[in-house]
Amino acid sequence: MGKLIVISGPSGVGKGTIVKKLLKTGGYALSVSCTTRAPRDGEKEGVSYFFITEKKFDEMIENGGFLEYSRHFGKSYGTPKSFVEKQLKTHDVILEIEVDGALQVKKSYPEAVLIMVVPPNARELKARLLKRGSEDEDTIQKRMQRMEYELSKRGQYDYTVVNDKLEAAVDEINGIIKSVDKK
Ligand code: 5GP
Repeated sequence: MGKLIVISGPSGVGKGTIVKKLLKTGGYALSVSCTTRAPRDGEKEGVSYFFITEKKFDEMIENGGFLEYSRHFGKSYGTPKSFVEKQLKTHDVILEIEVDGALQVKKSYPEAVLIMVVPPNARELKARLLKRGSEDEDTIQKRMQRMEYELSKRGQYDYTVVNDKLEAAVDEINGIIKSVDKK
């Protein structure tokens, strides 16, 4: 059996880049989530996400198809259970999800390894988010609140990794995964 690795962190912290690097180092399977939000430029169906309707999402909830799911920024996100369970037989599986979902996973899979990626300097990240272009005041406020909320849950994670230097953060996470005993 592989390990279930959950990686979270506030938006803009660089967790997407970290996950891409981890996948390149090999051996991991990445869970592809379902979402009801629209694809962004360059995102591919079945690679970035499975883009589905709210109706389909609700059906999947009813059928017990999600390992976890949550709603944030007015959209729904969920981890399909069947893929993860199948992959876990042969691989360590990475979930890149937000905190509410991560804590749900920990309840059903206590052996899951929860890793939160945090910025070296939260104030700097806030400034970066503020500068990040076109979003209106309301959206920015929501993102800020979300960031505070995510960081407030770090105590419930098994590990916190500071993303100061990308390579170092990736090495640290690889080290954590390798060192965790299979229970
Ligand atoms: P985005 O819309 O920017 O791709 O993702 C927004 C947030 O949703 C990110 O924090 C991302 O980690 C989280 N997310 C992506 N997929 C899932 C999922 O399947 N479940 C949960 N709970 N969160 C997810």
